[in-house]
Amino acid sequence: AKDAGRNRLEYYEAAMNAKAVQRLQLENDLRSALAKGQLTMYYQPKVSVSSGEVVGMEALLRWSHPQIGFVSPADFIPVAEESGLINEIGDWVLHQVAMQQRIWLSQGYRIVPVAVNLSVRQFGQKNFAEKIQSIVRNVGIPTHFIELELTESMLMDIGGDSIRVMDQLNEAGFDLSLDDFGTGYSSLSRLKLLPMKSLKIDQSFVRDIDTDENDEAIVNATAVLAHAMEMKVIAEGVETQAQLDFIRDLHCEEYQGYLFCRPVPESIAVTYLQRESAI
Ligand code: C2E
Ligand code: CA
Ligand code: CA
Ligand code: CA
Repeated sequence: AKDAGRNRLEYYEAAMNAKAVQRLQLENDLRSALAKGQLTMYYQPKVSVSSGEVVGMEALLRWSHPQIGFVSPADFIPVAEESGLINEIGDWVLHQVAMQQRIWLSQGYRIVPVAVNLSVRQFGQKNFAEKIQSIVRNVGIPTHFIELELTESMLMDIGGDSIRVMDQLNEAGFDLSLDDFGTGYSSLSRLKLLPMKSLKIDQSFVRDIDTDENDEAIVNATAVLAHAMEMKVIAEGVETQAQLDFIRDLHCEEYQGYLFCRPVPESIAVTYLQRESAI
């Protein structure tokens, strides 16, 4: 019996090791991916519900791994966060998006704000607001070309300083957006204190909105709340016309989702930005 217990323990240790090794491998690969240029940005349009016009975009990271192939950010972002690599990656993402905006501007395309996702770890860096302001300024575009998406769960993880950093970012000209709303537990009194321009309703509430009355009620209440606080409402994960019809009835201003367009590479994203002036 003792032997069996030991074997079991060894088995678990081996399994845990395998997992740890895998994670370490992924971390190393990610580090070199950044250096070798295997990371790219995709862009997903944000669309006005009333006009159908593209009024913004969200930048989403993509990693094409030489052996594994496509790795989802849902898998590698947590690894990047745990290892701290997210800070470097985050800087790279912001720089990349700012450069893209500069190119689109110089080519005469209509400029819409492009949103960048921030992770909690980045937010805790010293002088974070100053740093990202200088990244954007060095590229030579105005800060209002860039929007920043923070998740609701970040609000709980970071201390009282967080509101001050948000105020700094806001004053620097970045629009802030509260991502994945409804999945965390931020208190309404706290929400009131934040300098958010918009609130993004998580796709888990949109998925069944046309069949689940609870979801409809949640999205409705969220929209009422957001509007009372003078925030714009964006619905994520809109895949069907029926979902869009609900979103419209509940007075959401914008939506994102496969119904209009998946996240696409820059060469396709640009086709949604007609030129303002012929060059
Ligand atoms: P997120 O910020 O909530 O991004 C929205 C996710 O929903 C994206 O997944 C997008 O491709 C997906 N999506 C868009 N429309 C639809 C739809 O109609 N239906 C469905 N089912 N999904 C839709 P993606 O690109 O795999 O990204 C996953 C998450 O990884 C993001 O969630 C975000 O939290 C994180 N992430 C992505 N890029 C970055 C980045 O540059 N920095 C950081 N810190 N996180 C990132
Ligand atoms: Ca987001
Ligand atoms: Ca989201
Ligand atoms: Ca999400």
